[in-house]
Amino acid sequence: MVEGSRGAFLASRLLFRLIMSSAVDVGPGYKPSSGWVYRRYPRVVEGVLARSVRLVDKVEIVSVDDYGFEARVASEEDLKVQYSVRVYVSPIDPMVEFECTCPYGERRFNPCKHVTASILALLNKYVEDLKISGDKLEEGFYRDPEERRLIEAIYEGLNKAAYIKARSSSKLA
Ligand SMILES: [Zn+2]
Repeated sequence: MVEGSRGAFLASRLLFRLIMSSAVDVGPGYKPSSGWVYRRYPRVVEGVLARSVRLVDKVEIVSVDDYGFEARVASEEDLKVQYSVRVYVSPIDPMVEFECTCPYGERRFNPCKHVTASILALLNKYVEDLKISGDKLEEGFYRDPEERRLIEAIYEGLNKAAYIKARSSSKLA
């Protein structure tokens, strides 16, 4: 399979899985991590979602195969530091899995901004007419309503997949 069609195939599977996951009822204990903005008294600051969108242009897609992709994202704090992101789309398990080498990614189940940005960058690259960009962001408000809904569904799908994984691993512990 040539590189372009493999990427398009993976992007459509990834998007389908995440949108399905976003609609799963995981029960009342579920709390997604911060979205576009959140309140850190006394200020309102950008959440993971807004910071992910700002990072989209800084993502480098390293490799794509039938089971996922790898990306590199420069740290916002130190441009010399790069984090590695790996996203798995299993042929069997419907839940998308991911990992990132950043301090937050190693500590938490929730998707960090690098994972979320990498997925948005992959979709930008392979889904026609999609141009998710930090330029469309104004104080946590994303100007394109269709892309905004899509970004929110992707993030919700990632958070729910992470929540299900965390819950099943704590049952095993
Ligand atoms: Zn990360």
